[in-house]
Amino acid sequence: MTKPETVIREDIRSLRAYHVAPADGLLKLDAMESPYAMPEQLTDQWLRALRDTALNRYPDASMAECSSRLAKQLNLSDQYDVLWGNGSDELIQILIQSIASNDAVVMSPTPSFVMYQVVSLWNRVQHVGIDLDENFDIDIPAWRDAIATHQPAIIFLAQPNNPTGNLFSETAVEQIIEMAPGLVVLDEAYLAYSSRDHQSYLDRYKNVVVMRTLSKEGFAGIRLGYLIAHSSWVTEFNKLRMPYNVNSLTQTTAALVLNHLSEISERAELIVEERGRLTKQLSQLGLITYPSEANFIVAKSAYLGADVVEAMKTRGVLIKSLCGSHPLLTHCVRITVSSKDDNDIMLEALEASLDALKQN
Ligand code: PMP
Repeated sequence: MTKPETVIREDIRSLRAYHVAPADGLLKLDAMESPYAMPEQLTDQWLRALRDTALNRYPDASMAECSSRLAKQLNLSDQYDVLWGNGSDELIQILIQSIASNDAVVMSPTPSFVMYQVVSLWNRVQHVGIDLDENFDIDIPAWRDAIATHQPAIIFLAQPNNPTGNLFSETAVEQIIEMAPGLVVLDEAYLAYSSRDHQSYLDRYKNVVVMRTLSKEGFAGIRLGYLIAHSSWVTEFNKLRMPYNVNSLTQTTAALVLNHLSEISERAELIVEERGRLTKQLSQLGLITYPSEANFIVAKSAYLGADVVEAMKTRGVLIKSLCGSHPLLTHCVRITVSSKDDNDIMLEALEASLDALKQN
């Protein structure tokens, strides 16, 4: 009988599939989800729109409705186009596929979003990671050397960065874009919670793509991301997009959401307020926290690690241990900022877990 060993690539067989921690019955604060889904006042309208969505037909392959609403909301001029993806994960895949060849290189800071590295590996593209400095910022001399040596076809900069939560200094981002021989993707997955928006970079630089997602603002379940770039780039990426990659239910939901962005962003303001409160409370528990421009906080202390995450699970709360993922993240955990009630439950579980571990 033919076996996977004789057919599937060795480097694929040696991988482990992406692991999502089981969260049944737990308060899930490990995945940067929003506690808020569809605003109450839009629910009836949304359900009516879903009822009228023709499930027997293929989705609108051009995503005309969503594209025109987005272009209006963002004031996009004709020189730019939008490419939609089944989550921005799919866009990362399209971007890397578009440059995949024996000598192509993808570059990103480390630590950063793991999919840049994982998708490179799937596509047999070399991924070069450049360590952040101890403030989680860009080490410009290291980037200058690495860019000169490796000539990356694509550089991914998550702004704010996951898992560190910060924005890199603006001059460092600009310097990288200016040094880059290829494309620079500014991944704004956490834009809703950030004080810096890079859309204007599209006018300043011809080699920039801005990528975003609805996932962190209450719509992780519909899986919808988009990128904006000069039309000539989007024409090429579009050739690698699966036909009908964004399903009809997602398109119907997104068309409504895109008409109500102000209601959606009001909720982001609540999370930003909670982020400030939580940061103070975590410091009061004796933890070091890092400045965050996202809907999560990285906290550090000698007591933090996988065992505190396990202890919190027994108290009903799931957060993420970053220990072992990168030397800069030893004794670090990443906590999603949620509603006030959720955050209070988390703080209580954290305090009790730390007390228990200190006594051992
Ligand atoms: N970019 C960054 C920086 C992320 O942290 C994530 C998700 N954690 C994504 C992209 C992917 O988001 P999605 O596929 O849900 O749009």
